[in-house]
Amino acid sequence: MPTTETDEHKALREAVSALGKRHGRTYDREQLWSEAAKLGYLGVNLPEAYGGGGGGIAELSIVLEELGTAGCPLLMMVVSPAICGTVIARFGTEEQKQTWLPALADGTRTMAFGITEPDAGSNSHRITTTARKDGTDWLLTGRKVFISGVDLADATLIVGRTEDSRTGRLKPCLFIVPRDAQGFTRRQIDMELTAAEKQFELTLDDVRLPADALVGDEDAGLLQLFAGLNPERIMTAAFAIGMGRYALARAVEYARDRTVWDAPIGAHQAIAHPLAQAHIDLELARLMMQKAAYLYDAGDDAGAGEAANMAKYAAGEACVRAVDQSVHTLGGNGLTREFGLASLITAARVARIAPVSREMILNYVSHQTLGLPKSY
Ligand SMILES: Cc1cc2nc3c(=O)[nH]c(=O)nc-3n(C[C@H](O)[C@H](O)[C@H](O)COP(=O)(O)OP(=O)(O)OC[C@H]3O[C@@H](n4cnc5c(N)ncnc54)[C@H](O)[C@@H]3O)c2cc1C
Repeated sequence: MPTTETDEHKALREAVSALGKRHGRTYDREQLWSEAAKLGYLGVNLPEAYGGGGGGIAELSIVLEELGTAGCPLLMMVVSPAICGTVIARFGTEEQKQTWLPALADGTRTMAFGITEPDAGSNSHRITTTARKDGTDWLLTGRKVFISGVDLADATLIVGRTEDSRTGRLKPCLFIVPRDAQGFTRRQIDMELTAAEKQFELTLDDVRLPADALVGDEDAGLLQLFAGLNPERIMTAAFAIGMGRYALARAVEYARDRTVWDAPIGAHQAIAHPLAQAHIDLELARLMMQKAAYLYDAGDDAGAGEAANMAKYAAGEACVRAVDQSVHTLGGNGLTREFGLASLITAARVARIAPVSREMILNYVSHQTLGLPKSY
């Protein structure tokens, strides 16, 4: 793994950063989405043969991090090109690839992703959304919760299980469910989040799907699912690092100017050191994110799994701390709408909870990496 970024990656970072700065914190999500797509950024990880840029998650994570750093993160990038695009590119049928990949890359279509269920939460083995065969069709029934951007997405990639695997270890299967499918309803959840993307509770009531709604192989679902979940964790790390960098930059600007004694408040180490620490934590998290992306793009799914978990953990924690310290640096202004940092306190917590919580990553590392007994 290269220890410094390649010239191509630096150039991509600069170009995306320039786009982000043009849109800024008051961005129009749709406008930015289509502009980023036109410039080839949304599909940078998708295969060239299907209209993508032929790069990997390393490139896609640079795009999301830089947009976030400019204050205009595109949350659906975590889902549409990273999870859904990856799963379809790696396991979809030729027809699914033709139908979805060029459209995901050029931004004309978006796909959401739904695995979380109200009665399963962190324990995906308990999901009960069930697919049963009816002739060649599938009938899908179940509930999902906290699913992002379902209203914006043309379809949602739903993780279910087949009837004969309702008990025991998860044997997932993935279905593309169109937004307007009969029996597929959504209710927006009232979240305390200021974001362009909303979260939904979904009900699937005998949603009839054709045989080709199933992505890949009914029996290889777990492998397929993990192929999508590692990019999701890496992209969540990029999301968190971008948000942390955005908040930190606002705090540093403020601390350089704000003077209430003889020197700017940034001259006080009580203000400067925690900001320096936040910067170091974000840089370290980025290193782990780059490692995870490198391993994933090199085809090492197992190695990437551990690194992606660690990167998501490190980035989530670094983001929460950076935002907290940034708000504090602004004193009362940290809580005003004008300075716009207070709402990031809630937003930063998302990276600690989703898509896999801090505790579940600590469980993974203590069990899988350190070989300690499984605690749950
Ligand atoms: C803004 C937002 C967007 C989201 N978008 C999506 C999406 O697009 N698609 C999707 O599928 N999901 C999405 N999610 C859901 C997210 O992935 C879940 O919230 C997350 O997996 C945690 O599940 P839960 O909320 O049910 O918490 P729970 O599983 O109920 O956990 C609650 C608490 O208990 C802790 N806990 C649980 N089990 C253990 C254990 N064994 N040991 C120690 N601690 C434990 C957790 O760490 C957590 O702190 C989103 C969530 C949010 C907040």
